This record gives sequence, structure tokens and C-alpha cells, in this order.
Amino acid sequence: MECIFCNIKDRKAEAEIIFEDEHILAFLDIQPINYGHTLVIPKKHYDNFLTVPKDEIDRLTHATQFIAGIVKRSLNADGFNIISNNGHSAGQSVFHFHFHIIRRFNNDFSLRPALKNYNAGSMKDYGEKIRSFISKYEDIYNG
Ligand code: AMP
Ligand code: ZN
Repeated sequence: MECIFCNIKDRKAEAEIIFEDEHILAFLDIQPINYGHTLVIPKKHYDNFLTVPKDEIDRLTHATQFIAGIVKRSLNADGFNIISNNGHSAGQSVFHFHFHIIRRFNNDFSLRPALKNYNAGSMKDYGEKIRSFISKYEDIYNG
């Protein structure tokens, strides 16, 4: 399947690349929320966060931390968001896993979703539902 980020990695499509090593590529998002908005991808194709192996996640996180610091300092941002959209419902449009690094300024924070409140007892219900799956799947976490 054709993938625009694989094409960028293979130099079949153009991008403003800012960092690269054996496993990672970082380039500017073509439609930035703020100028300097950067994407960090593994060179290998994985559809989303859940399919990226642990060693790749470790490398990606390390590279994203490094590049976020560089973007913040070099472009004088006040802060930054690190986000990853997973699935259509979450706004994912390119199905090659990536972290967004979005530089932010003190007066530009409009990426704030409407917040909900839990009804009485329902927070516990959500907690219990999630914990019951953790006990079922914790072998995966422990490797
Ligand atoms: P997401 O919606 O989280 O999957 O993010 C995909 C991002 O990739 C969007 O913010 C797009 O603007 C960006 N994008 C898509 N095509 C390109 C491209 N050719 N070069 C750089 N960024 C791109
Ligand atoms: Zn890809």
C-alpha cells in the first residue's frame, strides 16, 4: 500500500527533513498548527502506536524528546504539545505511526477539548473496567 511517509523516507517524496538516524526520521508537517510543527517517524512502517515494537518506541521517544527540545530552543517557543492520533476517530490521517511536536506560545492555546465530569461512582466503574483488562493482559507488559 502506498504510504506518503514511507515515500518521504525513501526520498520518493519531498519533505523538509530536520533530523535522521538509522531508525528515525523527523520532518516538518506540511500543514502546521504552528510553523515548525514537526513529525517524528520510525523508518519502518507501523500503522499506529499499538503496533510499534518496544525497542522502536524507546528510540522514537528518545528522538522525540531530543527534537522537541531543539525545536523549542531554536524557534523560541514557550512550550510544545507531543501528540499522536490513533485511528480515524482520533483524527489519524496518515497510517504510518508518528509523533507530532507542536510548538506553542503563551497566547495561542486553543487545542483544548471540552472537559467532562464523572457522575457519582462512574469514575470507579471506568477504573474497574480498565483494571480488569490490565490483569488479563499484563503478561504482554511484562514481556
Ligand atoms: P495525523 O492526522 O495525526 O495522521 O497526521 C498526519 C500529518 O501529516 C498531518 O498533520 C499532515 O499535515 C501531515 N502530512 C501529510 N502529508 C505530508 C507530507 N507530504 N509532508 C509533510 N507532512 C505531511
Ligand atoms: Zn509508511
